[in-house]
Amino acid sequence: MTIYRGTVLDTPEDPFTGGTLRADGDAGLVVTDGTIVDRGPFERVRAAHPGHQVVDLRGGLLLPGFVDTHVHFPQVRAIGGLGLPLLDWLERCALPEEARLSDTSYAATVARELLAGLVQAGTTTALVFGAHFAPAVDLLFAEAARVGVRVTSGLVVSDRLLRDELLTSPQRAYDEGRALAERWHGAGRNRYAVTPRFSLSCGNELLESCRALLGDVEGAYFTSHINENGREIATVAQLFGLETYLETYDRHELVGPRSVLAHNVHATDAELKVLAERGASVAHCPTSNAALGSGLFPLSRHRAYGVPVALGSDIGAGTGFSLLKEGLQAYFGQQLLGEQGYPLAPVHLLHLATSAGAQALGLSAEVGDLSVGKRFDAQWLRPRSGSTFDVALRHAAGPEDALAKAFTLGTTGDVASVWIDGDNPALSS
Ligand SMILES: [Zn+2]
Repeated sequence: MTIYRGTVLDTPEDPFTGGTLRADGDAGLVVTDGTIVDRGPFERVRAAHPGHQVVDLRGGLLLPGFVDTHVHFPQVRAIGGLGLPLLDWLERCALPEEARLSDTSYAATVARELLAGLVQAGTTTALVFGAHFAPAVDLLFAEAARVGVRVTSGLVVSDRLLRDELLTSPQRAYDEGRALAERWHGAGRNRYAVTPRFSLSCGNELLESCRALLGDVEGAYFTSHINENGREIATVAQLFGLETYLETYDRHELVGPRSVLAHNVHATDAELKVLAERGASVAHCPTSNAALGSGLFPLSRHRAYGVPVALGSDIGAGTGFSLLKEGLQAYFGQQLLGEQGYPLAPVHLLHLATSAGAQALGLSAEVGDLSVGKRFDAQWLRPRSGSTFDVALRHAAGPEDALAKAFTLGTTGDVASVWIDGDNPALSS
């Protein structure tokens, strides 16, 4: 049993529906076997659990571990390809790197880089867009199991319009996905996600094989991209001859409560209505949307229709693993939308980066906030003494203000410790 002492901020109640920031200035969290068994004012907690080790985390912020709902395994080294719109960026920056993951030793190294990147950013749970090669995805799951991050991922499949080595067939996509799911779905913290790259590169037969796999792997997730870029959307409309992008997935029964679709920057009202009816979630990836010039995310319209939204880093189009940066960019985006923007407060940013992601991934009974009964998935933000973040935090007017400072000034360099199920992730030195 361990008692963690510090300033704890979390969002057990959804701030989009009236919840407020829960802030405990000098809290004690009692953790046994990875579960939070008591929480309250430190002096009360210490008196109730005498003789147990106290880990002193004062002088920073103890937050829930971040939940990244959209991050690409093969694109760690593609970060920073600035100046291109989506389809050109894919062609020149992302897909050549994706092709390199056919080499298993290369893939193993990138898997280590990905998991290290997540943990260093304070991310403890992630929906990871996998690779086009089954052995690479196998290595990703193995590395996730070794490090301890809660990973939901799968084989990325496509059967047209990409470079040849990234293409598969409907049968092979099913067989390889099934084998990976049998090995990894539900093994430790790993879970399987059926992952067609996007409708642009996936024909109906391939999407039909995705439906079969999703039906055959109980509890599996579905993830893909949607409505990111004008040229992409126009091409998908031409290829399928359907009214909306969402229908390309929905007609194959791929849209449901365990579905997470990335971007949805250019959503129609009809699509938002269907997404809400299906209970599907959207991964909002603000730095990626800005870097590729994809557009400003219509968060108010998602809220109005009741479509759940969480944050994704979307590296390599996104500009790094930090969900602090994504939160800040989400705020910028809404500000730039003027009256159509959603007035995001710091509490919304924390929710989007933690509990909203846990909900999207069906993990809110276990993680997303630091309530009694939840797993101790947490991060300690501790700015370097004398840094601007440190100065700002010490002079914050209150918890909301401290959180605003964290999203404005915090970086991956300020993440001093991370816990998953009460243990520090096993990064290699
Ligand atoms: Zn993506």
